[in-house]
Amino acid sequence: MAKNDQGVGEPIDMQHKVSKVVILGGGTAGWMTAALLSKALSKVDITVVESEQIGTIGVGEATIPSLHFFNDMLGVNSSEFIKKTSGSFKLGIQFENWRKPGESYFHGFGSTGLGMWAAGFHEYWQRGIELGISKPFGCYNLETQAALQGKFAHLQGGPNFAYHLDASLYANLLRDKAISQGVKRQEGLVNHVQTNPDNGYITALELQDGPTVKADFFIDCSGFKGLLIDETLKTPFVDWSHWLPMNRAIAVQTELATPPLPYTRSIAHKAGWQWRIPLQHRMGNGIVYGSDYMSDDEARDTLVTSVEGKMLTEPRMLKFKTGHRKTLWNKNCIAIGLAGGFIEPLESTAIHLIQQGILQLIKYFPTYGINQLEVDEYNYYMETDYNEIKDFIVLHYKQTDRNDSPFWQFCQEMKVPPSLQQRMDMFKQTGRFVQRKNEIFNDSWLQVMIGQGLIPDNHHPIADELSESELKRFLDDIEQDIQKKVVRLPNHADYLKRIS
Ligand SMILES: Cc1cc2nc3c(=O)[nH]c(=O)nc-3n(C[C@H](O)[C@H](O)[C@H](O)COP(=O)(O)OP(=O)(O)OC[C@H]3O[C@@H](n4cnc5c(N)ncnc54)[C@H](O)[C@@H]3O)c2cc1C
Repeated sequence: MAKNDQGVGEPIDMQHKVSKVVILGGGTAGWMTAALLSKALSKVDITVVESEQIGTIGVGEATIPSLHFFNDMLGVNSSEFIKKTSGSFKLGIQFENWRKPGESYFHGFGSTGLGMWAAGFHEYWQRGIELGISKPFGCYNLETQAALQGKFAHLQGGPNFAYHLDASLYANLLRDKAISQGVKRQEGLVNHVQTNPDNGYITALELQDGPTVKADFFIDCSGFKGLLIDETLKTPFVDWSHWLPMNRAIAVQTELATPPLPYTRSIAHKAGWQWRIPLQHRMGNGIVYGSDYMSDDEARDTLVTSVEGKMLTEPRMLKFKTGHRKTLWNKNCIAIGLAGGFIEPLESTAIHLIQQGILQLIKYFPTYGINQLEVDEYNYYMETDYNEIKDFIVLHYKQTDRNDSPFWQFCQEMKVPPSLQQRMDMFKQTGRFVQRKNEIFNDSWLQVMIGQGLIPDNHHPIADELSESELKRFLDDIEQDIQKKVVRLPNHADYLKRIS
């Protein structure tokens, strides 16, 4: 950043006013950006350039609850969303074989138990464990109990939920919205990017056998290729493979063998994990693995021999690298979606990061010029989000009893980011959990730490203020309240039929 005499950043390019934007890419990232940007800033001229020849990645079918906020802003309600995306409801993720083969735990999208101002519920639960009166942590979580009994309905007071969705149907929904709000669509393959030789800003995209598309500002949603942010602007990449060595996935769609469950399954194997995402009309399946620990053939066989239901597509391999662009906003370009970065799909966070990128873009939209202070704010905010999610994902691999393969031995031995190590150590030693401001995952940390076997050595002394019988009543009441709510919920598959 340019600095003045006081060392304060200068607004370096206030001449570069922005009224025309080109979004390169018509995948989930491109159309989400087009739909929300055109809704929020109706005077901005927006064109989406996409290429049928390249197509979209075609995966990305599980979400976290923050998507409600995005849908609300677009004016899409839950029933419309479920109908148009052939989706199902997601109450959380069942992690199977993660702590050790044959064991499972659940990460539900709601808070567990009831806390007091000084101590979290888990401190009471922990004391109950020491006294032998606590049940498994998930017994005190509404979403977990509803999911495991296959129940769901929209009810005030919970359960909290997210969605499973068909990515191509979601793109159609977003495209229709965007186009109805004035967004233009340009089909064509970009084969050259023009830049201004003086400042390196992008000026236009040249299409093969098509027009040259000019704009003041470019949003790179071109997927892993990162045609603008990487190939053109050469933005450095922050590589996290040393913490997250998963770098390949194979995806296949199958017929539904059973009615759709209201949760994602994540099944660990000897060098990674497999997903099962139930939609109304089919199952999404995939295997995620590290190529240093499993061959492509073995991964394919593991996937194909374990799916239930007839295969509807050929298994398709995807390569990726975990990390993000050091500056997601560089010059007159912002990268959103896979072009900006990717943290492997274990907690279905990529669509959430797309949403965050769009919201911050709207917040700092450079109508009156590109201000480096705002660019830095944008980059700082996004980097913080990426980092917090990365720590949460690394936790799943690091905190495990598994050492039954070279991959799991690597995970046990790896040195994790200091920010994660500090959280794990503090939780283990004191039972205290650090909830950072505006962090997307909160109670989830507790569920995963405990589920993966990180049990604190101590609990807050406030939990000792209850006698054993009071504590038992406290725990039992919570559990019974949850069961009373779950009994009233309909079966998820029946509910889906009713509203779609
Ligand atoms: C294995 C795997 C599983 C995943 N699971 C989840 C999940 O469960 N939940 C979740 O939230 N996310 C998940 N993701 C991430 C999710 O798939 C993506 O974040 C999401 O689909 C957005 O992709 P995108 O739009 O950035 O890229 P893409 O879908 O790849 O779209 C890129 C677009 O750019 C266009 N394009 C590229 N080059 C050119 C060119 N030269 N000229 C013109 N057009 C061009 C393409 O045509 C396309 O329209 C997963 C990702 C992977 C790899």
